[in-house]
Amino acid sequence: MHKRNTYIHNMFVIWLVFLLLLVVVLFVGRNIVYSNKGKSLQILKEEAFETGRVPKDQAKTLVIYHDDRDSRRGAREILATLRQMKVVYDKVKTDELDPLIYDRYSRIVIAVTDHEWIDPFLAGLDAWVSGGGSLMFAFPPSTGGEEALLNLMGIEDLGDKEWALVRGFTCMGDFMPGGSRRLSISTPYESSLNVRLSASCTTYMVSTGKNEVPLVWRQPYGEGEVIVDNLGFMEKAYRGFHAAAYTLMGTYTIWPVINGSTFFIDDFPSPIPPGDSYQIKQDYGMDIKDFYTQVWWRDISNLAKKYNIPYTGLVIEVYSDQTSGALPRQTDVTRFEYFGNMLLDMGGELGYHGYNHMPLVLENFDYLGKYDSYRQWISIDEIRDSMKELTEFCHALFPDQTFKVYVPPSNIISDEGREVLANDFPEIQCIASLYLPDQNDVSYATEFEVTEDGIIQTPRIVSGYVLDDYMRAAAMSELYLHCVNTHFQHPDDVLDVDRGTNLGWQELYSRLENYVDWLYAALPQIRSMTGSELAGAVQRYSEVQVHRQKKGDTITLELGNFVDEAWFYLKLNEGKPETVEGGSLTRAADGLYLVQAESPRLKIHLGD
Ligand SMILES: [Zn+2]
Repeated sequence: MHKRNTYIHNMFVIWLVFLLLLVVVLFVGRNIVYSNKGKSLQILKEEAFETGRVPKDQAKTLVIYHDDRDSRRGAREILATLRQMKVVYDKVKTDELDPLIYDRYSRIVIAVTDHEWIDPFLAGLDAWVSGGGSLMFAFPPSTGGEEALLNLMGIEDLGDKEWALVRGFTCMGDFMPGGSRRLSISTPYESSLNVRLSASCTTYMVSTGKNEVPLVWRQPYGEGEVIVDNLGFMEKAYRGFHAAAYTLMGTYTIWPVINGSTFFIDDFPSPIPPGDSYQIKQDYGMDIKDFYTQVWWRDISNLAKKYNIPYTGLVIEVYSDQTSGALPRQTDVTRFEYFGNMLLDMGGELGYHGYNHMPLVLENFDYLGKYDSYRQWISIDEIRDSMKELTEFCHALFPDQTFKVYVPPSNIISDEGREVLANDFPEIQCIASLYLPDQNDVSYATEFEVTEDGIIQTPRIVSGYVLDDYMRAAAMSELYLHCVNTHFQHPDDVLDVDRGTNLGWQELYSRLENYVDWLYAALPQIRSMTGSELAGAVQRYSEVQVHRQKKGDTITLELGNFVDEAWFYLKLNEGKPETVEGGSLTRAADGLYLVQAESPRLKIHLGD
């Protein structure tokens, strides 16, 4: 009896200890944030991609355009969008169009601004669509009110005013990742047809405001269908919206994407930046130096911990304007070590920004009067020396690091500057400049691609803390087109009136937090990456060749230049994916799936 009691007692103690341990484990586990970041993605040697070619897809898309200024501009954006999606297409001008060729294609995209150029082809297009073709109007043409065109487009009537002033827009339901956000247009103009649609149309995007105007819709037509993209903004920031309309065509579209998100911090670490500290004194009673350490970095690093963001910081050694002669070494390295090591400890990465903030340009470079304080370098040798000084300074401070990413100061660089980087600094494998071109500026805007000199371009789409609706639109657009997010901030954004200093740090920070929150809610499975990992992802995206086939319920992809992974978006307008051979997929939005290929042959079996 006594023995048995001891036994029960011992068992009780063991169970109690076990339960206590369980509580401890659960309590500790509660604070563990599970990272969606797997092992780091490396940049590969160019030879790695010489792994065999696949046959090119046959062109199944025909783009019809007219040779006037507006049509050309619109067509340029549509064609650029299709190229980014690696969709093989043919294009033809209206005056060279032979209606007998329609039957070679399953999709026809009309990029023509004036109905008069389409009218002669309407009857033929109508017959082709009725017989099963998929037709898209890439932007709204003036209609002239002819019934045949309105019928084909699914328009019941036009408003009293033919064109609508669109002040904002939003997606219906879950059409695009993060698309339910309502975005306003800062400089609205009469960009869209003012229409009432026939009952057979399904609408995917509408304008916001009192009179809701349909902006993207689809109408079944005979055996075929017509998609109308009534969002008239034909510029790079909106490519993803046009891509979303294009992917409503046919039963499916599959295209390669990057799947990566990177947050850059330019001028970090750097000396204390010059700038106006009045607002900071008023709000925090601190000088700039203390504000950066105690407030700015505290908030920015907490944000990174909350969302597992590995920041990429870009080093500036000194804030001088010296562009010739012997460049003195920075001697005050406390800030560099303090911030640099913290950033690295958080899983971040360091890259190069500049010895100073003078862009790598020579005297032949025209700043267009925009940068009065900037000077040009005296010669190519001086450019090279400045980079040499910066690389030596950085390696002395962080001997274990490789600095693969370069960000041009103020996003400005010349051909000569690029050549120096490509030829003399093999450590640099990636240039991260700007994505969106600014017509009135000298900034360097690029695509996501590997250029001929072997450098990988990972341009930044959005920036700063103000994050207005235009930037939000561009971010949403790119999350669809390339499955990518790239953002850069500067510590001194807080000090600059144009970048929102008057809003105060609290407001600026809450805007950034709101943006980050939107991003990871829109697409939780997007990979958080450092700048060089993103370069690795862009490299694979840029190199991969795709051959697509669909037989019965199976979509087969054969991939050329496949090394270890490739990512795709699959948009299905019919059916659902059931099983995948050679890869896996997750849902990203309505009918949209993020697909990972783990082998050069991928099969997706569809069901109802
Ligand atoms: Zn900078």
